[in-house]
Amino acid sequence: MASVWIGSWGLFAVDEVGASLTHILEKNDLEINSVLKPGYVMHEKNGVKFMIKSETAEKMGVITLEMECDSEEFWDNIEYEVDLETLEFVVDFNNLNYRDYKIRNLYVITEPYSPDAADWNHSTKGFEYHNFTKTLVPHYHDVATVRLPLYKSNFASLEKTYPLNIKLEATSMGASSSVACVKENVTTIPVERFRDFENMEPFFADGIFEPYDIENLQIEASGEDAFIEKFMEYQDLRKSGAELPSLEAGLALLGKDLIFEPSNDGDYKWEDQPVSYKLLRNNKTVIGLYGDVIKSDLEDVNKMIQALHVVAPGLDISYSSETKDVTLPIHFTDCKDKLGKHIGCKTEGFVGVYFANFKDYIWIDSSKRGDYRSHIIIHEIGHALGLGHNLCWTSAMTYEFSGPRVPYLSHIDLMQLQILYHPDLTPTSYNYKTAKRSLGRQEVINKLGLSEERVAYYEDNIEEACYQKPGVYDYLIELQGIEN
Ligand SMILES: [Zn+2]
Repeated sequence: MASVWIGSWGLFAVDEVGASLTHILEKNDLEINSVLKPGYVMHEKNGVKFMIKSETAEKMGVITLEMECDSEEFWDNIEYEVDLETLEFVVDFNNLNYRDYKIRNLYVITEPYSPDAADWNHSTKGFEYHNFTKTLVPHYHDVATVRLPLYKSNFASLEKTYPLNIKLEATSMGASSSVACVKENVTTIPVERFRDFENMEPFFADGIFEPYDIENLQIEASGEDAFIEKFMEYQDLRKSGAELPSLEAGLALLGKDLIFEPSNDGDYKWEDQPVSYKLLRNNKTVIGLYGDVIKSDLEDVNKMIQALHVVAPGLDISYSSETKDVTLPIHFTDCKDKLGKHIGCKTEGFVGVYFANFKDYIWIDSSKRGDYRSHIIIHEIGHALGLGHNLCWTSAMTYEFSGPRVPYLSHIDLMQLQILYHPDLTPTSYNYKTAKRSLGRQEVINKLGLSEERVAYYEDNIEEACYQKPGVYDYLIELQGIEN
């Protein structure tokens, strides 16, 4: 059994605690024995250990010791097993209540045996991230049963199997934040031995997406007229995009990316990168949001999709509430307690990741809120659409960390997408590995009638490209719910 103690109390003999406590507790007429009184916690000050009331300890903000959280009486007496048929974790407390042992919460934890499993297992499109779980075991049953929430995707997830660890973790009472006092390995089981996985379906709420954007929409006969009307609106929206001019600054930005330069002030600097490196999505793109999703995430995706219909009519993009339709899953998990040990959580500084090429999925840290969260969503989908990073102040793709966290596609983001997905452009090369296609700089200039001189000017003065805000693009900002 591995114990993590608060401070260094682990080596302290219980008898000694009793002895040192005697004189300060006599007055309260408390009998000193090896068991802490209910409502009291152990505390050390200047090398002296004594018992104080939990409330007092909390008010004082002192670090206290929970003597019994790892009590052998408790841990040696409970019995547990995992039922592979039903995916149930069953624990028999043998008439002991863990709350009596100052255990605040008892959790059953599942995690891929290799923390990297979720990253290396390409074919699973990130669904393994949801197999880093922590479920509370109820304390008021003699025999508690917890159904392990194990998920699989519809993306051939079991072709490459990996073992899952199952652990039991206890957190102690008294301290203001939960502190793990015991973490015990229960068992390690190869995934293929589990019979019953849950298929995850995307988060969905009525009234957010336009009916024409819902991949799996069932239209009843009575709703047909309304749907047709909406569909006409959609066609008009797409047509309005034909009026948008292609701009030299947009192409110049498509020809840049950033390179990490620790010696540089901002850590990142501009780098030339051929436009052909930007890969377009040439297949149907169906988004699905999974995990700790909140309603505003759907709203953010919807606003972005509306703008994309206009600016990238060549892009077929929609949403589905069924995994079988989804081609671009977006997973929301948070890294609290360092539970998620996949790339996003283990590498400090990541709040969102787009996994390119074969993987083609997104991970987002669900602990983020507000505009920051929206910014991460838009930024990562921006990558999935082919956008790279920039150092522009107002861009969803910025790496200018002192700037605002832009929670929508800004003018320059839209200008780049307008070129990438322009219907008059035939992508020049085909990337067999990723089934994505890219454009050539010269072809863009020729076919869209851009001034080569001005493109070159912006390439040389890229910061000027950052500040372009063509008025004809304004309504697309408004379409995303942003006032200009
Ligand atoms: Zn990025």
